[in-house]
Amino acid sequence: MSTVSETKPRVLDGVAIATEIKAELAAKVAEARQNGYTPGLAVVLVGENPASQLYVASKVKTCGELGIYSEMHTPDASITTEELLKLVEDLNTRDEIDGILIQLPLPKHVDTERLLEAVSADKDVDGFHPLNSGRLLSGAPMDQVLAPCTPAGIMEMLRRSNISVSGKNAVVVGRSNIVGKPIAAMLINDSATVTVCHSRTKDLPEFTREADILVAAIGRAGFVTKDMVKPGAVLVDVGINRVTDPEEFQRLFAGNAKREATFAKNGATVVGDIEPAAFALSSAYTPVPGGVGALTIAMLMSNTVKAAKMRRAKR
Ligand code: NAP
Repeated sequence: MSTVSETKPRVLDGVAIATEIKAELAAKVAEARQNGYTPGLAVVLVGENPASQLYVASKVKTCGELGIYSEMHTPDASITTEELLKLVEDLNTRDEIDGILIQLPLPKHVDTERLLEAVSADKDVDGFHPLNSGRLLSGAPMDQVLAPCTPAGIMEMLRRSNISVSGKNAVVVGRSNIVGKPIAAMLINDSATVTVCHSRTKDLPEFTREADILVAAIGRAGFVTKDMVKPGAVLVDVGINRVTDPEEFQRLFAGNAKREATFAKNGATVVGDIEPAAFALSSAYTPVPGGVGALTIAMLMSNTVKAAKMRRAKR
């Protein structure tokens, strides 16, 4: 039976950790400039998806804050795969561009896989290229591989919070290429015993209750309930879900005055994949918002600085 942890759970503050990482990166960028180069990121944003526009604006702004050169390419949604391939080819050959980010999703007529594979693996700051996934799977050290930003942020958060992974039972719920699979690979590389669950898993709670470290990357509001959690576990909540249904809001946040005020004002609030009541059982957890999500852009910047250095070291 689940019981509330005797000590108060630690909140893993993604915003504070991201601030720390960005300060370190700003110093690395200054050093790179002294060595005669400025790390550079090219962002390709196709069409006018408002959510994508917001993400991209925030990425470009962070580049500016850290002294990273950035440029935006914003072709019309009617652009063809061939035309996008030409743009990527050009960015691949330009020396002042160290990272290429193609903001997803792309319009349906564009061959996303072909495009992502066309990005030079050395400039693949999203870590989606098969060569980089392969390097990650083969256990290359994290400082020598361009790995997907969200899972890399989780590992960085655990490391900086002195949460050891080695020998722990880690359960990942979700098997996407962006989060579930790469975080499973990273946890294995750091010697956790890893179980990956998904929508076909039979008796999911039986697995999640065994987790010393539980990573939820599902995309369903408060899906992991407190009876699915082992007391004292570390809970890593990757989900970002918008709640607008008052009944669902009550299930998740009844009695939370701050959230009630937000919900009354905006008619919506954000919740992760783990129900907030489960956090009280944990030894440490990532809040939503302000947990894992806060680290993703910092890790993109980190990959850009890393890519710039690794490419020059190859010469
Ligand atoms: P995704 O591609 O939709 O994958 C979701 C995974 O959850 C799938 O593997 C799916 O299993 C599994 N799943 C769905 N329903 C399930 C169920 N009832 N029981 C067990 N497993 C179930 O999502 P994603 O891209 O990994 O993202 C997951 C969440 O993280 C989303 O809320 C997303 O917004 C958030 N996210 C946040 C960040 C960030 O920066 N913080 C970055 C990326 C994603 P099947 O494979 O069997 O379908």
